[in-house]
Amino acid sequence: MLNKSCIHAGWLIDGTGGHIQKDVLIHIQQHTIQTIETAPKAACQRPASFLDLSEYTLLPKLVDCHVHLFMSGTDDIAARKRQLEAGYDALKAVISDHIARHLSCGVGAVRDGGDSKGLVQQYLQECQGADGGKPLINTGPTHQTSIHVKVSGKAWHQCGRYGKLIGRSPAPGETLAEAISREDGLPGVTRPDHIKVVNSGVNSLLCFGKETLPQFSLEELTHVVYEAGRRHLNVMVHANGKVPVQIAIEAGCHSIEHGFFMGTENLARMRDRQTVWVPTAFTMRAYAAHLAPSSREADTARRNLTHQMDQLRMARELGVPVALGTDAGSLGVHHGISVREELRILLESGYTIPEAVHCATKTGAGLLGITDMGTLTPGMPASWIAVKGGPSGLADGMDRVTVSI
Ligand SMILES: [Zn+2]
Repeated sequence: MLNKSCIHAGWLIDGTGGHIQKDVLIHIQQHTIQTIETAPKAACQRPASFLDLSEYTLLPKLVDCHVHLFMSGTDDIAARKRQLEAGYDALKAVISDHIARHLSCGVGAVRDGGDSKGLVQQYLQECQGADGGKPLINTGPTHQTSIHVKVSGKAWHQCGRYGKLIGRSPAPGETLAEAISREDGLPGVTRPDHIKVVNSGVNSLLCFGKETLPQFSLEELTHVVYEAGRRHLNVMVHANGKVPVQIAIEAGCHSIEHGFFMGTENLARMRDRQTVWVPTAFTMRAYAAHLAPSSREADTARRNLTHQMDQLRMARELGVPVALGTDAGSLGVHHGISVREELRILLESGYTIPEAVHCATKTGAGLLGITDMGTLTPGMPASWIAVKGGPSGLADGMDRVTVSI
């Protein structure tokens, strides 16, 4: 943690969505922000522990609300296949490397969307801090730091439908709520941080806008939300298309993942219920970049992205809470650095810089139930990232951030 008692920041984006503050002095005591005042650098009474960041933009550490730590973003199909089939010993170093990449890009919290063997959960158990809290991660020979990693373990999907790569299905004759209750009592089963449910198929790259049937009924998902609530767990739902998304919202799920082609009525419902949307839009730009440019698939991926950005514009107008999530591990979506690309898409979709940072910080931290990050405001820990230059270069500078411990 930071021991400096005063920082001069050229620009501050505090994560609340409020306007960018220029030339601020941030006073810190015992690692907690005491006051923030606007003042030119010359006006600062420099204590011994003064930190000059007048050439930098300061913002809270970032939150990536949708990653798959067991998979890399590589486009090497053979390597992807190996990772999907690998066991714990082989994947341990891969997961560790992905977490280090997030840390180096200023990401202070990630939410994992599941893997079919529960290996990320196993990894975290092994490196859990002594207090049972955040895992301690080795980031170099002499450095250890911590990152919030929230895991779903294995996701849930309907037998015979999409989701096998990241999860499993309830037993035959068992409802999803019953399966969740049964597992909860089993010896040796680790409690997840949230429940991940897959409620639709994936986006077609052959047929633009093709929607798939929901995997679970409203009644089934409502029971799931009830059972999760009894365990103080949120429910994150993979859902594309109007009906799968509508069911997830009406069941009271906490976040809609992807939400491609969900439509304006669902966005209005999400605004009304304050359901969080995690759009994972960069996945489509990444697909388009890795497929043959003139292929039908690349063309569909580009059109999917355009449509998702239209939905983002609508979400902003309506006031839907949007949290940044990359789906890192998807083809071409690399851990850590892809946060920059998702931020860029928010900006291209009409979000102002403070609004985009709000999605990437406070809204994400709130969704993950993390109270000690999300904003740089009095009373919060002095846990920040600094990007060289003014706010307009924010997304471009994300690969060389300075990060407080
Ligand atoms: Zn995912």
